[in-house]
Amino acid sequence: MSNLLESIIRPEILALSAYHIPSAEGMIKLDAMENPYTLPLILREEISQLAEEAHINRYPDPSAAPLKAILRDTLAIPSEMAIMLGNGSDEIIQVIALATARPGAVLMGVDPGFAMFRIIATFCGMNYVGVPLAADFSIDLEAMLAAISQHQPAVIFLAYPNNPSGNLFDPQAICRIIEATPGIVVVDEAYQAFADATFMDMLTQYPNLLLMRTLSKLGLAGLRLGLLVGRPEWLAQLEKLRLPYNVGIMTQLVVERILQHYDILLEQAAAIKAERAILRARLATMKGVEVFPSDANFVLFRLNEASRIFQELQQHRILIKNLDGSHPLLKNCLRVTVGASDENTLFCKTLRHILEKPL
Ligand code: PMP
Repeated sequence: MSNLLESIIRPEILALSAYHIPSAEGMIKLDAMENPYTLPLILREEISQLAEEAHINRYPDPSAAPLKAILRDTLAIPSEMAIMLGNGSDEIIQVIALATARPGAVLMGVDPGFAMFRIIATFCGMNYVGVPLAADFSIDLEAMLAAISQHQPAVIFLAYPNNPSGNLFDPQAICRIIEATPGIVVVDEAYQAFADATFMDMLTQYPNLLLMRTLSKLGLAGLRLGLLVGRPEWLAQLEKLRLPYNVGIMTQLVVERILQHYDILLEQAAAIKAERAILRARLATMKGVEVFPSDANFVLFRLNEASRIFQELQQHRILIKNLDGSHPLLKNCLRVTVGASDENTLFCKTLRHILEKPL
């Protein structure tokens, strides 16, 4: 069997470790940047009604035109730009990689950065080049420009704010990168709702810029909807690789309905930002804890023996993300998603308890 596997499955896939998603059963789940709040009852009732009425025996509308129209209005997408939808933005990353993966093509990112950029590049047969960030997680522009000139990437992905560090990069550095690269730059604004910045207005200025968003962090992670915004010429090519029915009928209908109440999602995002400030302030008062700035719905922090602390938190049924060992810049770093007020309080109380208890 193993010989057969090795002769059939590509070596880069055999070498790849699968993206690990730990079980969160019975845990306080602060590991995956989800929005902790539910929707108001009245809206949940409207959603149940949609489920009753939907023609689930039919394929969904492959163009999702009504959904795109409301997304355009809600997210202020410029009229001259096209929209492509994905089953989450992960799928959009894959479509872009498939479209650009000629032999030897390079997909570039920054390290530490979002793990899926590297994983998708690898399984699409591209070479991934991750350019190290500076120690404060800002872009090392000189290193980036040198890497661009050396590797001539087909595509560069930059998360703005970045995951797992949580910071926004200097927009001028991003502009220099867009101007210097021979290929396209995708600015991934997955966490835009928690930051006060966007590259949406830059789309008209740069012919090689694409912008990606997702509704996952805003409270709709389970519905799986990501979007890519860019010039119609680019998106017409990428659309050829999008599977025709990638966004299901329930996702289309439910998102359309929820976006009619977008203010609710924005209020929840504002509450998360307020909780983020409290969480950062509490972490900063803990002895030996270094808290990094965040423009996202999560907070990165460093402390001694991070892996042991992570495990002890798990024993207390609190699940966050251990980044220790994943990159030299992330030594002893943990990442916690901003949860609801009681979850954050319990997390801080438990962490303080672990830190203060004698070994
Ligand atoms: N981009 C970034 C930077 C992310 O952190 C994530 C989720 N962790 C995604 C994209 C993917 O989000 P989704 O597939 O849920 O839209």
